[in-house]
Amino acid sequence: MKKVKYQEPARGEKIQWQEQTLHVPNHPIVPFIEGDGIGPDIWAAARVVLDAAVDKAYGGQREIKWMEIFCGEKAVAAGLAALPEETLEAIREYRVAIKGPLTTPVGGGFRSLNVSLRQILDLYSCVRPIRYYRGTPAPVIHPEKLDVVIFRENTEDVYAGIEWPAGSDAARKLAHFINTELHAAVNPEAGIGLKPITRQNTQRLVAAAIRYALDHNRPSVTLVHKGNIMKYTEGAFRDWGYEAAAQQFGGQTITEKDAAHQYNGKAPQGKVLIKDRIADAMFQQVLLRPDEYSVLATPNLNGDYLSDACAAQVGGLGMAPGANIGDGVALFEATHGTAPKYAGQDKVNPASLLLSGAMLLEHIGWSEAAEMIKAALEKTILSKTVTYDLARQLDGAQEVKCSKFAQTIRENLA
Ligand code: NAP
Repeated sequence: MKKVKYQEPARGEKIQWQEQTLHVPNHPIVPFIEGDGIGPDIWAAARVVLDAAVDKAYGGQREIKWMEIFCGEKAVAAGLAALPEETLEAIREYRVAIKGPLTTPVGGGFRSLNVSLRQILDLYSCVRPIRYYRGTPAPVIHPEKLDVVIFRENTEDVYAGIEWPAGSDAARKLAHFINTELHAAVNPEAGIGLKPITRQNTQRLVAAAIRYALDHNRPSVTLVHKGNIMKYTEGAFRDWGYEAAAQQFGGQTITEKDAAHQYNGKAPQGKVLIKDRIADAMFQQVLLRPDEYSVLATPNLNGDYLSDACAAQVGGLGMAPGANIGDGVALFEATHGTAPKYAGQDKVNPASLLLSGAMLLEHIGWSEAAEMIKAALEKTILSKTVTYDLARQLDGAQEVKCSKFAQTIRENLA
């Protein structure tokens, strides 16, 4: 397989990670993967706004030096592996990167590049902030009441990809072992997937969620699980989560139970309330009492469902940013996929990738530029100059192309 050597952009410097802290120069090199399908359209649009916001916020003193790295269809077309080793190395080395969506064909033979990136780089927290931008058409009466940040465990659960097809030798062997040695009843003709959940991986995720809540003055962290049914995986997630809160953040957190007994149900000033909810009930709660929730920590599969459901409540996937964060390495990405039917049409909403870029700016401490982008996006949506997905739901909207939408956001930066 061909190899690729990435060229550092001129005048750029590496972000460093020392003593658990990012050190960010004024001209940091940030690798980007353009992505498949609509990726090139939304990346081009997002980049224009990101660059303009940084320039404006810091009077030209700071600038991101983008460095293209390859993955997915573009890598394969260049004769490289779909996920080249050099791409993984670049993300590790430069510490912070951003990507567009990547295609995953359904069915056998092809492992999801997105899941592979998260697992290989051990990006164990999938972080998805979901809030409402005024003017966005939404299906609920009070979309502004939802303002949550979902921390989804990214490396295990049924998403670990440990599974065997029905009728395969491996599935039959495993069924036989389970039936004879462990005295459970598995149909030998079943397809089988495993759901590993560990104390270590649960606790580092929950710790990241609590740290985030403390750093951002968020009032609570809710552990979302289906532990009433899956006791030793999801139930353990809840128990290990409470344990991490008590052991690592004892003085800074209080459980809902203790708050009820000692403080009339309210966490004392400065303490983060730790509570848990069963996953199905949580889906009702985000619709019926969204303002009672702030940071949510979930196992992998629950978090995947819940983040899309929450995103729908505030206007859909086109507005949903995300990040995959490990220790000293972070990869920012839009939550949606490649929407192939719109590829190359300069049509779709770039806000998801743009807001992922704003998360990147916050992550490197450039919050002024991030806030500017969010304000300009809101102003643009309120002016009803929007892409097709929002225009079709908004009376009197002017539908514009992806690039024009970005240009308008850029003009609204203040
Ligand atoms: P999708 O690409 O997310 O698209 C589903 C629908 O969501 C689109 O048809 C469109 O709805 C809407 N949508 C998505 N992005 C939008 C945007 N930027 N602006 C406006 N609307 C947007 O889901 P999919 O069609 O199921 O998946 C396609 C491919 O993407 C698959 O190969 C999948 O594996 C991959 N994927 C990748 C990632 C990732 O890279 N992280 C995530 C998910 C899926 P309308 O049709 O209603 O206009």
